[in-house]
Amino acid sequence: MKLKDKICIITGGASGIGYGIAERFIADGARVAIADLNGTSAQEAARKLTAKGPGSAIGIEMNVADEDMVNAGVDRVVAQWGRVDVLVSNAGIQIVHKIEDFPFAEWKKLLSIHLDGGFLTSKACIPHMKKAGGGSIIFMGSVHSKEASPLKSAYVTAKHGLLGLAREIAREGADYGVRTNVICPGFVKTPLVEKQIPEQAHDLGISEQDVVEKIMLGETVDKEFTTIADVAEVAHFFAAFESNALTGQSLVASHGWYMN
Ligand code: NAD
Repeated sequence: MKLKDKICIITGGASGIGYGIAERFIADGARVAIADLNGTSAQEAARKLTAKGPGSAIGIEMNVADEDMVNAGVDRVVAQWGRVDVLVSNAGIQIVHKIEDFPFAEWKKLLSIHLDGGFLTSKACIPHMKKAGGGSIIFMGSVHSKEASPLKSAYVTAKHGLLGLAREIAREGADYGVRTNVICPGFVKTPLVEKQIPEQAHDLGISEQDVVEKIMLGETVDKEFTTIADVAEVAHFFAAFESNALTGQSLVASHGWYMN
């Protein structure tokens, strides 16, 4: 049990990939704070996962783009468990439009959740990690940290930006054992993706089946979705990897969609 009693914060942990990572960490004995915009879902997820054990969870309502809420949430974790060992900065949304139709307010909202969220949660956790002698920060990137797709200007920009933030934290954190990684999944069937299928079909004027087969899985080697369990396994690997050897690195899990 490599994560036994490790104190972990997972943003966006009430749903999809974040929930799967929380489940994987708790199965390995971790204590996980599920920090989510939807406080009720965070509490519910924490109850369900604590019942499974052997680790445990608490739910925290947090908007990752709100500095006061982020600081209060991290303070609460430290008050309860004394430190922070692992931060998985995973909360995210998707908004798709052509650039010329992209409302500026929606561009700023997406960038704020992904980039301000990554920055603010890291900023709040790093002092605690330094004090404890180290820690692991994992950003949820995407194949869109490396590639572009039509209609996703804000998302692609944000996900590319997380690679830079991770590299920066790798440099600044090295002396204190604070290491960073970025996980870059291909398409994973979560509520975030289910919502995109009809939206993209409408915007591109094609069928939902074509969105899945040609757009989402068109470049994979086997036409398969990456699974939540796949991504959770990669997160566990990075969280449990104790030296600085892999710091600053990203890892793509995409069924061959992106291979570089
Ligand atoms: P999801 O919609 O299932 O879950 C996202 C969670 O984030 C939700 O619980 C939501 O309440 C929470 N959230 C949204 N805004 C928030 C905010 N401001 N503060 C705190 N929490 C907030 O989505 P998912 O597919 O599990 O996505 C999780 C992460 O994985 C995102 O960063 C996403 O970009 C990334 N990702 C997803 C896929 C995919 O195909 N699903 C692929 C690559 C990367």
